[in-house]
Amino acid sequence: MSRPSVVIIGGGIAGLTAAYDLHQAGWAVTVHEADRQWGGKIRTSPVGDRPVDAGPDAFLARVDHGHELCRELGLDGELTSPVAPVPAYVHADDRLHELPAGTMLGVPTDLDQLRHSALISPAGIERAAADLELAPTPVRPDPSVGAVCRERLGDELTDLLIDPLIGAINASDIDHLSLNAAAPQLAAALRTDSSLIRGMAAIRASTGAAIGSRDADKPVFYGLPGGIARIIDRLVEELAGAELRLGSPVTDLDRFADADAIILAVPAFVASDLIGGGVGRTGRPADQTGPRRRAVELLSSIEYAGVSQVVVELPISGLERVLDASGILFPRVSGKTMTACTWLSTKWAHYRRPASVLIRLSAGRFGDNRHAELSDAELVDVVLGELGSVIGFDQPPIATRVVRWPRAFPQYTPGHNDRLAALREHLAELDPRISVVGAPYDGIGIPAVIAAARHTAGLHLDRRSPAPQGRDL
Ligand SMILES: Cc1cc2nc3c(=O)[nH]c(=O)nc-3n(C[C@H](O)[C@H](O)[C@H](O)COP(=O)(O)OP(=O)(O)OC[C@H]3O[C@@H](n4cnc5c(N)ncnc54)[C@H](O)[C@@H]3O)c2cc1C
Repeated sequence: MSRPSVVIIGGGIAGLTAAYDLHQAGWAVTVHEADRQWGGKIRTSPVGDRPVDAGPDAFLARVDHGHELCRELGLDGELTSPVAPVPAYVHADDRLHELPAGTMLGVPTDLDQLRHSALISPAGIERAAADLELAPTPVRPDPSVGAVCRERLGDELTDLLIDPLIGAINASDIDHLSLNAAAPQLAAALRTDSSLIRGMAAIRASTGAAIGSRDADKPVFYGLPGGIARIIDRLVEELAGAELRLGSPVTDLDRFADADAIILAVPAFVASDLIGGGVGRTGRPADQTGPRRRAVELLSSIEYAGVSQVVVELPISGLERVLDASGILFPRVSGKTMTACTWLSTKWAHYRRPASVLIRLSAGRFGDNRHAELSDAELVDVVLGELGSVIGFDQPPIATRVVRWPRAFPQYTPGHNDRLAALREHLAELDPRISVVGAPYDGIGIPAVIAAARHTAGLHLDRRSPAPQGRDL
């Protein structure tokens, strides 16, 4: 009996993780990656004389799938966590405010701590406190994060805390972001308690650290001193013996008619083209009706936001303030081009240098494309100008790097999970050998993408193992 075979299209973390599991299980694995390097959004590139993460620089520690894969790949000893004394500042009213203690994903779990911060006005705090008494939020299938938070906590707190913590992470507009798909913790909190504040406090008591908890007793994030791309390098090493093809963009699926499984680990708009244009096993042009048409419609309905990132190395002697936090979050209402500014050399010990600091300035989110209309030089000018007005510095950068990420962040709009379930049903009907996996579907964070890739690999293993069927047998 020949080994089962899988063709994986896309060599980002999703494709390579699925490849790793199926390779370990003895499958014949082929991976096609369009680019000349592995990793997709996960990569490093130089800033001056050192490599610096160009996409993600961290992944959530609390969700175990990232940590578990690192353990399996022997990277456990290399993991590190942020060391900044202050988790982050929020920029509002032309001032920096420490992220109030006790907030979780921007939701306050302790109103006394919120009152110690000047970020939210007394009227805004009283409006947020009304959440404790308000009638339960009416049950709706999948409201937006913004709709629910505005209803429970009021506009001021939603704009100044929920938007930067949930919206900016997803490069999204919270008023168009699915509660169930993008903020499942908030949805869970509202299932346990009519009050969002009490519900999140209960979750915090049971799960501990989360994004936006400034009093975390265990790491919220992990990073890797050699860059997150260390995970990619190790996965590729483990795939020795598999057929790994770089610079191999796939344009149709018909050439894979003999594969036992085809995993599309590419952006949704690419998956849509591949499924729409595939001629299938019969060799006839694709029938654009029924499940194929519906799958293509659902895939192409997933919208994307683009971001740009500028990393600068600045001389410490030119700075007017001590960089004592992971960085600054800029709520949409601040009007800034920047959504966040990460003080990389304060956040991570491995980026520290005696005479200079390393700062990443991120711009762009759904509905705000100003960054994309600027040339690299103009973008650097704009974001450095904004940074200068907030922290003050008077010397030019030692080194600068601009990375553009067009159409990089899939947007989970309300109803996302239902559309995803329908998509998977149509694909199963079209051809059960085909699956889609990666950031557009089951969570955009690295641990969520890893978990989904392993689940997908597991489904193909299950389909083959107990009662093998198919052309090869
Ligand atoms: C700037 C930025 C910062 C981020 N920060 C964080 C963070 O701090 N923490 C975190 O957890 N997550 C973060 N994320 C999200 C996370 O990096 C991504 O969700 C994740 O890496 C996506 O992995 P993927 O494999 O699904 O997709 P991708 O990495 O997009 O991989 C898809 C691959 O498919 C390839 N491809 C496309 N078309 C074809 C084709 N026709 N044929 C063959 N190959 C093709 C692409 O070249 C690409 O390599 C960030 C993302 C970005 C962009």
